[in-house]
Amino acid sequence: PAYGRWDPLDCGGGDRGEDSAGAEEEDDEDPGDGGAGFVGSHLVDQLIGRGHSVIVVDNFFTGRKENLAQHFGNPRFELIRHDVVEPLLLEVDQIYHLACPASPVHYKFNPLRPSYPFNLHEDSSSSSAFLREGVFFLGFSPAASFLTSTPATAAVAAHKTNVVGTLNMLGLAKRVGARFLLTSTSEVYGDPLQHPQVETYWGNVNPIGVRSCYDEGKRTAETLTMDYHRAAALEVRIARIFNTYGPRMCIDDGRVVSNFVAQALRKEPLTVYGDGKQTRSFQYVSDLVQGLIKLMEGEHVGPFNLGNPGEFTMLELAQVVQETIDPNAKIEFRRNTEDDPHKRKPDIAKAKELLGWEPTVTLRRGLPLMVSDFRRRIFGDHAGDGT
Ligand code: NAD
Ligand code: UDP
Ligand code: UDP
Repeated sequence: PAYGRWDPLDCGGGDRGEDSAGAEEEDDEDPGDGGAGFVGSHLVDQLIGRGHSVIVVDNFFTGRKENLAQHFGNPRFELIRHDVVEPLLLEVDQIYHLACPASPVHYKFNPLRPSYPFNLHEDSSSSSAFLREGVFFLGFSPAASFLTSTPATAAVAAHKTNVVGTLNMLGLAKRVGARFLLTSTSEVYGDPLQHPQVETYWGNVNPIGVRSCYDEGKRTAETLTMDYHRAAALEVRIARIFNTYGPRMCIDDGRVVSNFVAQALRKEPLTVYGDGKQTRSFQYVSDLVQGLIKLMEGEHVGPFNLGNPGEFTMLELAQVVQETIDPNAKIEFRRNTEDDPHKRKPDIAKAKELLGWEPTVTLRRGLPLMVSDFRRRIFGDHAGDGT
């Protein structure tokens, strides 16, 4: 019922695969697009391109059917509208479970965005995917409750997605004997006391804070995943994804890269929260997708950090955005959000060694690809494609 509320400018609706910088074509088809969400859509492109059969399950609350349009009519592609908080019966071989609201704007009250939750249609969430002979892909987010929710109920919906949704997907994987991949997050490290973060670090997470529905939810999802692995001998994989950016991100979902890029393009000041000295490590989406596929196809459970070790303060990020889009873009400082992690940078030695994976796209190379996409979506198809 909420489908008609999404504004094509806000989410998805981007290009059609030309953005997969660094992506390899392995099998007989081109990478397409995919799974209505941000990461999910790029993943589906690759999976279809590799010859898999893909079933996307998505409720379209944050993703867009349009992101999948290039696969319509392909006999190896199927799309089901479904909320994964509800049980689901399907026969598949692999499940990529990406479900959960991924931007803080989706799961907590942001005092800087007082119009929340009425602009939640701008968000993204996550997707879950299932593979059969290839792939069954499931997109997934906090669902309808967002549309009428208060911040508190949005957080509960987010947590439900992480916990009940993951449980359902694990139950499905167990019933059909599918391999299950959880897209966890660097947020499981909380405000880390170790730097860079290694997979053996247990984290520093506030269990009762505004971010807890996300980071504790993901920690529970990891626990459930390992419990099913141990108790039901389920084949599982866990990826801890660090901040990822690229084409098809929701334009106004509140994440820092999408905010800065949209602000610079619209000639608005870049909003730096706090003193801007907090750090993040930004990974281009095609690198992540390669890592997810290598993890799924490999022999190791994980968890594996999947991220780009290049570390930037938010002020440095703002500077790269200025250099890329508009050197005259102004910076405006705003109050930071609660429990904001001070620094974050992945140690990817384990992924390098066991998966043979490492990112190849630097921020300065990846950002222009995203800018082209945002420019098109904000200003229209004929808005010029330069960066
Ligand atoms: P996304 O928000 O772009 O994808 C959301 C997709 O899930 C949309 O298609 C949406 O319609 C669909 N969906 C939402 N609720 C649903 C529901 N209840 N049932 C069915 N479908 C639903 O998310 P993303 O940024 O692509 O993140 C994907 C995964 O990666 C998430 O699990 C996220 O936690 C994880 N992750 C992402 C990042 C990042 O920087 N993007 C970082 C760490 C972890
Ligand atoms: N489940 C599902 N699809 C399936 C199998 C299970 O959605 O094909 C759900 C099921 O509804 C349950 C959850 O997955 O809520 C866990 O299933 P499991 O069989 O592990 O637990 P049980 O149902 O025995 O409690
Ligand atoms: N941030 C910022 N300006 C914005 C949005 C976010 O300075 O417009 C900061 C935010 O406070 C955090 C960092 O950027 O320190 C990353 O925020 P994001 O929501 O993108 O990701 P996460 O906090 O989940 O890593």
